[in-house]
Amino acid sequence: MAKKTIKINFDTGWDLAPAPESTGHIQLNEKYDLFIGGKWVKPSSGKYFATINPADEKKLAMIAEANEKDVDKAVKAARKAYDTVWSKMPAKERGKYIYRIARLIQEKAREFAVIETLDGGKPIRESRDIDIPLAAAHFFYYAGWADKLDYAFPNRKPKSLGVAGQITPWNFPLLMAAWKIAPALATGNTVVLKPAETTSLTALKLAEVIQEAGLPDGVVNIITGAGETGAAIVNHNDIDKIAFTGSTGVGKIIQNAIAGTHKKATLELGGKAANIIFEDAALDQAVEGIINGIYFNQGHVCCAGSRLFIQESVYDIVMRKLKDRMESLVVGNPLDKNTDIGAINSKEQLQVINKYLKIGQQEGAEMYQSNCTLPKKGYWCKPTLFTNVSQSNRIVQEEIFGPVLAVQTFRTVAEVIEKANNTPFGLSAGVWTDKGSKLFNMTSQLNAGIIWGNTFNKFDPTSPFGGYKESGFGREGGLHGLKDYLRF
Ligand code: NAD
Ligand code: MN
Repeated sequence: MAKKTIKINFDTGWDLAPAPESTGHIQLNEKYDLFIGGKWVKPSSGKYFATINPADEKKLAMIAEANEKDVDKAVKAARKAYDTVWSKMPAKERGKYIYRIARLIQEKAREFAVIETLDGGKPIRESRDIDIPLAAAHFFYYAGWADKLDYAFPNRKPKSLGVAGQITPWNFPLLMAAWKIAPALATGNTVVLKPAETTSLTALKLAEVIQEAGLPDGVVNIITGAGETGAAIVNHNDIDKIAFTGSTGVGKIIQNAIAGTHKKATLELGGKAANIIFEDAALDQAVEGIINGIYFNQGHVCCAGSRLFIQESVYDIVMRKLKDRMESLVVGNPLDKNTDIGAINSKEQLQVINKYLKIGQQEGAEMYQSNCTLPKKGYWCKPTLFTNVSQSNRIVQEEIFGPVLAVQTFRTVAEVIEKANNTPFGLSAGVWTDKGSKLFNMTSQLNAGIIWGNTFNKFDPTSPFGGYKESGFGREGGLHGLKDYLRF
């Protein structure tokens, strides 16, 4: 065996030998049809589109494009399954199926992780340690609730809604599918799910798992396509609930489309989270939290800590530590176990990020990027931060959805609360301080659905997730996540 060497570069930290995860154990078809009524069905238009690996721009598979006719077929299959099987089945039997799905995801975790990384560009460390285990955990958690809804909502006689149309984004493909499917099934609903067009593969793999779990035909239907397919789900008149995660722009279109109909909705939209560092915080931990907050998953995180607020007295030291840490981030092959920052999900998203890098500089902010080299093929962005920004700058107000941080300072608690809340969004926030009382004061005054104390980007199936203001409404996760699939 060839001897591998570990070089140590004292300027930039560790320079590690390549450690790529193998792809030998994964199985991908060349072409994927639509999963409707428990079977793989050809799209009625006969059209397919390619999904690529954003790290090398190579095609991974062809995917069916569902049109209105296919959506109608899927909704009919879901309605039939609801009326004839799923709503009649004892809740504890439904729970067994959901447990089975959870266990099958665990068994195939390695395959799911590699496919997630290939299709979306996120580092294998994240898909392996975060996305896939959390997806299984969501199925386990909601499987447990299936036969205990009367205890979750005592004296309220919860009833299922019917057919749920679910539309997910590309940043956490399998995890978002789990967040949506698991509570829907546990509450006795049937599902038509459409994953994002750049990252459909793990949802299609999940369809295989659902088949293997023996779920009755039509209980979960997974159809692929872009925005038009999503719109056809939203506008179908036999859908009882829309669960959407994606951009605020599309969220508004959906809310308009369903106004005046019987359809219920939960919308999980954009964010522009404040990450607030007080002078009494454990600064090294806080710096790790800043890094995790914005560079995790290339900043493709709706709850990313994209606005940093540093108390003035520790500004210099935090910035020095932060820039040092940025230099040690490994950007490159997402399949490498040492990679911290993978590929940007698509060419379109890279264009959006680059547009904001220009806007930031035109607005007079100072841009700093780590000194790394980017691969030649694929879509990449260096970890970036802007200083000398003001509240009115577009890079402070608008969601960039990339590894781009806007840094500001503050002196007092009142000042930082005002600045942090001065945004159209209200999804998440982080507070770093040694003082518990300060933390609790902050959590009661920040307008955000999720607030982390001395940590960031931590997720758990028992904990509700969702936003205020233009970040949407409704909650996923925890008991709250059940409620939005029930009527009383
Ligand atoms: P997007 O809104 O463009 O797409 C999301 C999904 O909606 C995709 O499946 C897409 O095909 C579909 N879609 C597009 N147009 C549609 C239409 N008119 N009708 C119905 N469906 C339509 O967003 P994106 O680019 O995929 O994802 C990035 C955005 O998602 C960011 O703004 C981010 O903040 C947000 N996001 C939010 C959360 C959350 O939980 N709040 C989580 C992840 C992503
Ligand atoms: Mn892809």
